Amino acid sequence: MSALTELYQQIGQCFKCDIAKLRCHVVPGEGRENAEIMFIGEAPGWHEDQQGRPFVGQAGQYLDRLLTTINLNRQQVYIANVIKCRPPDNRDPLPTEIQNCQPWLDTQVELIKPKMIVTLGRYSMARYFPGKSISKIHGTAQKRDGVVYFAMYHPAAALHQQSLKAAIEADMLKIPKLLAEAGRIGEEKPAAEGARQMNMFEV
Ligand code: URA
Repeated sequence: MSALTELYQQIGQCFKCDIAKLRCHVVPGEGRENAEIMFIGEAPGWHEDQQGRPFVGQAGQYLDRLLTTINLNRQQVYIANVIKCRPPDNRDPLPTEIQNCQPWLDTQVELIKPKMIVTLGRYSMARYFPGKSISKIHGTAQKRDGVVYFAMYHPAAALHQQSLKAAIEADMLKIPKLLAEAGRIGEEKPAAEGARQMNMFEV
């Protein structure tokens, strides 16, 4: 059994949060175990909870279409969420839920060792770009400890707001170049708050 499959079993036995009791299925994540790119969303919705798979509802179908625009499919990447259980009524994840789930996500990243982590939406952005605002940093990347972090809007938000759709589609198209150049991109030094030009590079 792979270390990732073993991790899925452990995640399936996690009942740290009350929402774990409400789930049909835990949704740990899926994709290539040695994927170069890892996409991290927010939390499972109804469809994901029914199937135990991330991004299989409307937003997921849109993510699939976005992936095809860069000649990728979900078997070639890894897709996970900040939290692994569905919050009731699709409410936002609570800080305690994010905290309880953080070791699972961190272990997934350690095992997969992606070259690039793409954050989808505010909650995964907050994990990797703390204190930043998505409207300011979407489409920009930052390299830390050998990993390129790239912030994007959440596909569900883009589906519901036409103005974000163009942005998410344009941001997606930046990924191949970033990935190809990942080894040559310089590490970013911690810099002052809000320094889009100083500590983040636009692609
Ligand atoms: N939205 C997410 O953030 N994750 C999913 O898995 C589905 C919808």
